Amino acid sequence: MTDRRQAGLTLLELMLVVAIICLLAGLALTVGVRSRERAEMTACAFNLRQLGMALSLYAYDHDGYLPQVSYGAGDPQAKWLAATLPYYGGAREIEQCPAWDARAYGRLSYVINASFSHGTALGSVPEPATTIIMAERRAGYTHLDYHWNEGWLALEDSIDGTRHGAVSNYLFADGHTEAMPFNLTLQPINMHDPQHR
Ligand SMILES: [Zn+2]
Repeated sequence: MTDRRQAGLTLLELMLVVAIICLLAGLALTVGVRSRERAEMTACAFNLRQLGMALSLYAYDHDGYLPQVSYGAGDPQAKWLAATLPYYGGAREIEQCPAWDARAYGRLSYVINASFSHGTALGSVPEPATTIIMAERRAGYTHLDYHWNEGWLALEDSIDGTRHGAVSNYLFADGHTEAMPFNLTLQPINMHDPQHR
């Protein structure tokens, strides 16, 4: 009798131990995934800051003006990616978010705000601390290197607003980066279009 009760308790304890191990393993997995996602988001923000620095240096060498986007004809070397390449020392790994699938969608995972190309001086961008100059490219939007600011649909077509969980990284015209939900880039002010706020 004593032996059976002992055996029953042992089985219950075993089940509890297994349940606790499963719970802890699940927690460890969740923490592991979150820390990897956080590391990717931080590395991505670093990339954007480096690209922002390259844009500033390019503008400094070109009377304050930003490079062109890939629209229509023109000198391919004047397009922003080729034009800024020497200003980040050809370190091409910064052209790509760590959470981006380069094999499926190509190397470049960022888009520049087309409002500020075609002859805009970086110094003339109004409210640079709240004006987005670069965002994370939506997977599949591979034919252009920029995003456009003419409405919700066009922006959503070109920008991935959830690259890092519920947020994506954005580079602002003053050189800082922020991880934000996409809707906060449009409300209460449109951070993509300082001319029409
Ligand atoms: Zn990213």
